[in-house]
Amino acid sequence: MTEYGFNTMLLHGVKQNDPYGATHTPVYQSSAFRHESAEDLENIFTNKAMGFSYTRINNPTVEAFEQRITKLERGVASVACASGMAALFNALANILQAGDEVVAAAGLYGGTVELFEDLESFGITTKYVTENEPQAYEKLITEHTRVIFAETIGNPKLDVTDIRAVADMAHAHGLPLVIDNTVATPYLVRPLELGADVVVNSSSKYINGNSDAISGILTWSGKFAWDPERYPGLVPYKKFGPMAYVAKLRNGLFRNTGACLSPQNAFLNNLGLETLGFECSASVKMQRSLQSS
Ligand SMILES: *Cc1c(COP(=O)(O)O)cnc(C)c1O
Repeated sequence: MTEYGFNTMLLHGVKQNDPYGATHTPVYQSSAFRHESAEDLENIFTNKAMGFSYTRINNPTVEAFEQRITKLERGVASVACASGMAALFNALANILQAGDEVVAAAGLYGGTVELFEDLESFGITTKYVTENEPQAYEKLITEHTRVIFAETIGNPKLDVTDIRAVADMAHAHGLPLVIDNTVATPYLVRPLELGADVVVNSSSKYINGNSDAISGILTWSGKFAWDPERYPGLVPYKKFGPMAYVAKLRNGLFRNTGACLSPQNAFLNNLGLETLGFECSASVKMQRSLQSS
C-alpha cells in the first residue's frame, strides 16, 4: 500500500466512527456517558472494556484529535492535555520519581525551564547541556538519569537537535528521548521516525493554527523497552505490553491531575489542523522565495 501524503493522511488517515456518520467529529460537550448497566460503566471505568465514561479520562471529540495526531506523528497512541505545559508535565512525570535526573537541551522554551524548576521540589533535578551535541548530553548522564529531553527546534534559541544521533546515544544508555516538536510540527519533522520515544506538541501554536484554543498533546512510539528496575512505576502496567506507557498515564497521573482537554477545544483543534499542511507549505515556499530573491 502506498503511504498517504501529509494532507491525505490528515483528512483520511483515521476512520471516522461517529454513530451518525458525521464527517467532522462534533463537540461531545458532555461530562459523563450513560451505559446500559452499572456493570458496563464499571468495566469501562476500570479499563476492562473500551468506551467513554467521563470526559476527564476520555471523550469522543478529544479522541478524534488524538487519533489524528497519532497518525501524523507516526506513533501508536496520544494523550491530549489542557495545554502544552500539561502535556510536558504528564510526558515526563509519568516516568520520573524522586531522585531521578533529566538531561535537557539548552535554550528550551521558558515555561519548560520553569517546569523543571518546579520538579526540583519533588526531588527531580535537571542538568542542561551547553552545546546541542550528542556527546554533550552523554557527558551529563549519571546512574540517576532517567530521560533525555530536547526540542526539535529550540524556542527561542532556534538550535536544531540531531534527533537520530541523540536518540541512538540515549538508547545506548537505556534511556528514552522525549522531544518537544512544537516549533517544527509533524509536517516538517516526525521525531518518532528519527528514534525519539515520546513526542510532545503544544497544539496551541501551529496545530490549532487559529489562536483560539490552548492545548497540548503527547504521542508515544510504542517502542522503548522500559527496564523495570529503573522505571518501577511502569511495572504494574506490564500487561499492556507496548502500550504500558500510555496505559499508566491514562489510568494514573493524567486522570488524577485533571489535565484533560475540553471537547470544545479539541473540536477547534480538529478544524484548525485540517489546513496545517497548506499553512506550512505556504510558509516554506515563502521562505524559499525570500532566500532566492
Ligand atoms: C508554547 C510552547 C509550550 C507550552 O505550550 P502551552 O500550550 O502554551 O502550554 C511548550 N513548548 C514550546 C516549544 C512552546 O512553544
